[in-house]
This record gives sequence, structure tokens and C-alpha cells, in this order.
Amino acid sequence: MKIMTNVLLGLPILLLLASSNAQSTSYSDKKNTPVSDKTMKNSLRAHIEFLADDRLNGRDTGSVEYEIAAQYVASQFKQFGLKPAGENDSWFQSVPFTKSAFDKSSVKMVLHNGDKETEFKFIQQFVSLPSALTSEDNIRAKPVFVGYGIASKELKHNDYTDLDVKGKIVVMLAGKPASFTSEEGAHFSNVRVKLQQAEDRGAIGVIMLETPQGQRMGSYPNFSAFAKRPLLNWQMKGGGVFDSYPGLKGLAYVTINTGKTLFSAAGSDLAQIFSELEAGRIPVGFDMNIDITLKRKSAHKTIFSSNVIGVLEGSDPVLKNEYVVYSAHLDHLGIEGNGDDTIHNGALDNASGIAILLETARRFSLGERPKRSILFVVVTAEEKGLLGSSYFVHNPTVPVTSMVANINLDMPLILYPFADIVAFGAQHSTMQGYVQSAAAAHELKLIADPMPEQAFFTRSDHYSFVKQGIPSIQLSPGLTSKDPKINGGQLFMQFLGKHYHQPSDDISLPISYEAGVTFTKVNFTIGEEIANSLVRPSWNQGDFFGNKFNKSAFDIKSLVTSE
Ligand SMILES: [Zn+2]
Repeated sequence: MKIMTNVLLGLPILLLLASSNAQSTSYSDKKNTPVSDKTMKNSLRAHIEFLADDRLNGRDTGSVEYEIAAQYVASQFKQFGLKPAGENDSWFQSVPFTKSAFDKSSVKMVLHNGDKETEFKFIQQFVSLPSALTSEDNIRAKPVFVGYGIASKELKHNDYTDLDVKGKIVVMLAGKPASFTSEEGAHFSNVRVKLQQAEDRGAIGVIMLETPQGQRMGSYPNFSAFAKRPLLNWQMKGGGVFDSYPGLKGLAYVTINTGKTLFSAAGSDLAQIFSELEAGRIPVGFDMNIDITLKRKSAHKTIFSSNVIGVLEGSDPVLKNEYVVYSAHLDHLGIEGNGDDTIHNGALDNASGIAILLETARRFSLGERPKRSILFVVVTAEEKGLLGSSYFVHNPTVPVTSMVANINLDMPLILYPFADIVAFGAQHSTMQGYVQSAAAAHELKLIADPMPEQAFFTRSDHYSFVKQGIPSIQLSPGLTSKDPKINGGQLFMQFLGKHYHQPSDDISLPISYEAGVTFTKVNFTIGEEIANSLVRPSWNQGDFFGNKFNKSAFDIKSLVTSE
């Protein structure tokens, strides 16, 4: 028996050595990938067609069809030989949510001006959000105008200077001053950050005003569509729900006309304030000598939806304890509205991102293992406010400090043979260098964010990772097409204007699966380079996001191997 064992053992080791040598030789030629373009292209198409099929009913968070999509992703991970990296050695992380909905007839906003009362119409003149905590709220208070409602040391800006908002309803402009072009500005214009700043100062309600700039970008229809959906908040393990602002008892987002009515009752002129904004001046806040009532009744229930997490273990005995994280959201909007087609299939938002993540995972599983491990995190409830990713980073299945970088895929618009790519957020960290060289390796140009006003850097799941101090990017095709007959920028803007969050985001769009192949390859190369680098990515010296969120627990030197 012993001799037999020796003979048998010796053979496979030789075979293994031989095969790993063969692999690394072919692998050193970057163009010689183990998956043919044709296979990758067909696989991308198959994933998107499955996930965006009408029978998946738009993959709404909490739906059975979403869980079928999650099962599909887990099944692919298993097929690629990844290991489960969810909870309790499973592929899944079940996220508990509180789902809050209005009693619609209970939502009221009333202006009291002396003994005159004006009641505004819910949806047409204002929208609101239910409470995640209480079943009934009814506040009447004096409003205070606080400009944009932004206070930031970094931006040397404080809209709350000399204003006492304790026990008051703050009235603020949505968005940010035109001069805050940077992603730092986008952070402070984020609704959650603004609500938190108001609550921290003792306000009991917030009224947000649509601005002419917002109107041009369709902000009221977008916000009212969001507000018509039930509100979700993830439940914290020790009790309570995340991001719930218990101090704020009333919220409203109002149209320009409603805003004008409020300001004229307070003896001010909102049109005048708007024209000053357009001229680049910063508005100064003031006490508004009127009263406002905000009322709502909210009902709650608990629902569950799954994140799906798989890992490909790294080859280096030390560095395998660190992770390059790829993320993409699997959820979309489900069924909404009452037209002929009500299914929001989300072919490009974000079946395409999931398909690219899956093919990236397959590509990693077939090549030589990188030094670091690769973690694939597929999240739920992005459309409900980046919730699945927020839950994951607060309840991580590997230590947060072991995640060296996040590459997020959300809405890759693979509609044309793109000649350039954008990596939102790359300029904040050393990830820029990796993206630059990966782009060059695939004959693509890395360009700066062509649409800073869209604030993409704060609008998807990578932002949950940024807030944990993890250098992150979101990859997107640029606007230039390699084919002079196709106008890439036009297709990109057309998607945002016509199909974004509409039932028409489905597989009848002219999806270019060849573009999907290019996108997958560059996406793979970025992660591979980071995973094999001896130094983990770091925030640039003095960077705003690095300073704000970096975890002091990092000891970069001890994590670098000495080879
Ligand atoms: Zn979306």
C-alpha cells in the first residue's frame, strides 16, 4: 500500500508542475486569453438575456424573481470554481430590510400665513418620504432658509452660519453651488449628508427646493418616482434601522412653484434667489416668518433580499488574505407604472454590469491565480439607495481593512465600440495608474469624467466602499466611438434621457456584445494588476476622501511582502 501511494502521489505532482508551467508561459502573452472573444461574447449575451427577461419581472428587491437571479449568479460562481464567501459558508448574505410605506391620504403639507392656510397637493406640488421608525408624525414649525444646507470645513463653506434651526423646519436648495464642480461637492450635495447635517443641528423637518438647474436635469420627476416607491432601510444587528434620521419628523421635496409660494408668503422672492444662483452667487439664509405643517402616517414590515458573494483565493501565502473587490448590483426597479409595458427589465442597469462581473470571474478562474484574492460582491437594493452594498461594508464577510480596492460596475453602456473609458473616482488614489495602464493595454484612452454634474462618483455602490476608506472606482465607457459612423456620445445621452429607469431599458436596445468583450477585458486587467502588485492602492496625499474616510488601522508597510 505504501509503495503504491508513493507512486500515485509522485505522478500528479509532476503533472501539476508541468501544467502550471505551461499555463504561465501562455499567460505571459496578455493577448492570448484562455477564453475566446466569441465565447465571452456569447456568454455576456446569455447572462443579459436571462437576467433581463420579462419573466424576471425587473428583479425588484424583496421579490422571488430577484432571488432567482441571485441563484443564477451563485450557480455561475460555482461553475467557475469560486468559493462561497457569504454568511455561514453560503453564497448568500441575507439582508433584512424595514419596508416603509405611506398611507397616501395622510401626507399633508400646509402653509400658515397669519390666518390664511394653503394646502399643497401631494405628488403634483410636493413629494415626501415615509418614516422608517414611527407610525405617525405631525409637526408645525417655523421654517428657516439655509441656502444649500451645506456645511464643510474642506470647502470653506457654511450655509448655517448665524442661523438657529433648533426645533425648526429647514428649507434648502437641492444640489450644490455651481462652483462646487468637484466630487467633494457631490458628497456634500448628497441628500443623506444634507439630512444628517440638518438633524445634527436640531432641525425637526427638511423641505428641499427644486432649482432651475435641477429642473433641467429632471430632478422633480426623478425624485417623485423614487418617493412613490416604498422606502427601504436595512436593519442593524443591535436594533434600529440604518440612515433613518429619528430627529427629522417631516420631509418634503417641492416644485419650483411651491417654493415660490412659500417664499412670497415669507416676504421674499425665490425667482430673485434663483437668478443670483445662475450668476454664481451663494444665497444667504434667513428666518421665514411663516408656519408650516408636515404630516404623514407610515406602515412598516420586514423583508429580506440577498447579496451574493464568491471568492477566488489568491496564490500568495500572505497576500491572499487581502482582497480586490469587484461589485455590481443585481436589483432593478421591478414593475412600475401602468402603461403597456410595466416591466423594468434593467438590461443595461444592471444586467450588463452583472454579466461583465461574471465573465471577469470566469476569466480569473481560468488563468494563473493572482497573488491577492478576488472577491465578487453582487448586491441588492442599489436602486433603493445603495443599500445592499452599505449593508455589506457594515457587516463584511472579510475584514474591511483587508479589502484593498473596489471596482464597481453599474450601467456600463455597451452600446458602441468605445474608444475611451472613464473611471469615476480614479483621480483620488493610485488606482488611476492601474486604470491608465490597463486602458493602454487594450488600446483605449482613459479620459476625465465628461459629466461631473451627474455626480456619478457618489451615485453607486463603490461609494459605500469609499466611505469605509477603500480606494474605489466605477468604470464606464467614454463617449467616443471607434466607428466614425456611430456617435457614442449621442447614444450615451439618449440612453440617459429616454431609457434610464424605463421599461425600454431592455434587450431590444442595440447592445454591442463586442463592446462588452472589450469592457470585460479591461475590467479584468485592472483587477489583475492590482491583485499582483506588492503595494496596495492608496489615497493620494491630502485627498479629501482619503482624509475623510481612511481607516487609521491600516499599516501598509506590514502588508507588503519583502520579495
Ligand atoms: Zn439604476
